[in-house]
Amino acid sequence: MRATGPSIAIVVVVLLSPVFAQQAPRTPPPTTLRAPTHAEVLRGEYGRYRANNDLVYYDLDVRVDPDKKWISGKNTVRFKMLKDDTRIQLDLFSNFAIDRIVLDKAELKYTRELNTVVIDFPQTLRAGRTYSIDFHYSGQPQEIGRFDALAFKKDPMGGHWINTANEGVGSAVWWPSKDSWRDEPEGMDIRVSIPNDLVDVSNGRFIEKTDLGDGYTKWHYRVHYPINSYNVSLNIGHYVHFGEQMGDLTLDYYVLPGSLDKAKQQFAQSKGMIEAFDKYFGEYPFKKDGFKLIEVPYSGMEHQSAVTYGNRFANGYLERDWTGVGISLKFDFIIIHESAHEWFGNAVSAADQADMWIHEAWATYLECLYVEHMFGYDDYVKYTNGYKTKIANAEPIIVQRGIARDPNQDMYFKGALFLHTLRSVVNDLSRRSGEAAEADAKFFKLLRDLYAEFKFKNNFTEEIVGFVSKQLGQDMTPIFDQYLRRSALPVLELTFNENEKTMWYRWNAAERGFAMPIRVGDPARWQTIQPSADWKSLPWTSGPDAFKVATDLYYVNVAFLDAGGRPAKP
Ligand SMILES: [Zn+2]
Repeated sequence: MRATGPSIAIVVVVLLSPVFAQQAPRTPPPTTLRAPTHAEVLRGEYGRYRANNDLVYYDLDVRVDPDKKWISGKNTVRFKMLKDDTRIQLDLFSNFAIDRIVLDKAELKYTRELNTVVIDFPQTLRAGRTYSIDFHYSGQPQEIGRFDALAFKKDPMGGHWINTANEGVGSAVWWPSKDSWRDEPEGMDIRVSIPNDLVDVSNGRFIEKTDLGDGYTKWHYRVHYPINSYNVSLNIGHYVHFGEQMGDLTLDYYVLPGSLDKAKQQFAQSKGMIEAFDKYFGEYPFKKDGFKLIEVPYSGMEHQSAVTYGNRFANGYLERDWTGVGISLKFDFIIIHESAHEWFGNAVSAADQADMWIHEAWATYLECLYVEHMFGYDDYVKYTNGYKTKIANAEPIIVQRGIARDPNQDMYFKGALFLHTLRSVVNDLSRRSGEAAEADAKFFKLLRDLYAEFKFKNNFTEEIVGFVSKQLGQDMTPIFDQYLRRSALPVLELTFNENEKTMWYRWNAAERGFAMPIRVGDPARWQTIQPSADWKSLPWTSGPDAFKVATDLYYVNVAFLDAGGRPAKP
């Protein structure tokens, strides 16, 4: 005879929120759970020849020939050695020629493997000392990746329109750099020589332009802050400029002449955006460089202090109601989302691509906070929950470090719903300690403190979790891990005992020690319970149908178990 366990069969009768129930079947997203390629490891790993040095400064000086679709020039890379060594690793796509690499007028030897360049020095470079090499290169950029990397396009008038967007593909697709998320220079100069009739807009503060006397003009920008290499950007075209001030912050806008009137209307949203994120997190992080919006032929990208914009000067995302609940059409998705990255992504950066939720979950959640600032709390809740329809819950958000590969899309939408859930948890903790939870005071303080702690640094998830735990006086690791390192949502299991008039509850979650509070019962006066993996109960006389769970404040699944299946008393 087959042995049967002592437990009583439990039947799941109700599952999922109505939003999920109405959803059309979706095709599964492409999986990120596959073995890394050699190229992904070469670029993603922070190996010995990257870890032995720390970037100090870049001086990038390039000439772009629009007719030949050609780029040539040099990057002067200043770095400090952290260990004695004779090699360093930089990156440059293999389709470019390396013309020479020079240290103190001496040419250096190098070897290339795929898109990496390993540079050898004739003598040992000493720990603590700073060195500077000139890396000369030339070639025709490949138009690859989501936005064609460095693309030579034409504007509607037939003029040259050349833009970069190389997040994912990496900076090495058009310039020699240490193309890693782990290290950033303290600042950089960007010098771009182009035909006289064109304008270049890059990151940082415009310094000067110089007529080179050969039909070309050199545009010089200076970045006064650390910058991710993928953020470094060229935007070359027949741009016209307008601008405004917010206190001592300059806002500069560059668009094609035909877009000027539309842009003057649409870009008026910038001030409200800066006001909102200033309120929730702290002042605009790159004040010395100013804030810019630049028209481009693709949807948009968060280039630091030079956010690129291609959202058709209309609200929503490419004129769609992005979260599908009637809120998105109240604002311009690209202005808000890409600029939100100035706070999370550009100021607070991840140290590894696997930790990219630090950029995308936060930028997505900043959209939600912008909605709250502009349109009120009810719209915030509606907009945030609208993202549920985009979530797959099929793979963890954080998988494996040291691989140059984007995590799956849940890092945006599930990530934002997680931060929204965290807000409810922080409020529960406030309520428990008798503080005024309704004003979200503790949560908003946490946001400001967290931003101040991590800005201008490259951070790992564990550092953020450690900080939040310390601030809240409670180990938050199981909650973060359940949402970021597990694919399935936690399930609140409920079963009603008719005789006792009690509701029994527990968490069914993959993460051991997951014990998140949650609000349940009567929506008119929620009560906060502290479920764990063990069954607990509360008195409930109104019957199971009247028992609600605040699923618009916590992103969880709820399963009512059959009353007959109630487990034996714990
Ligand atoms: Zn983003």
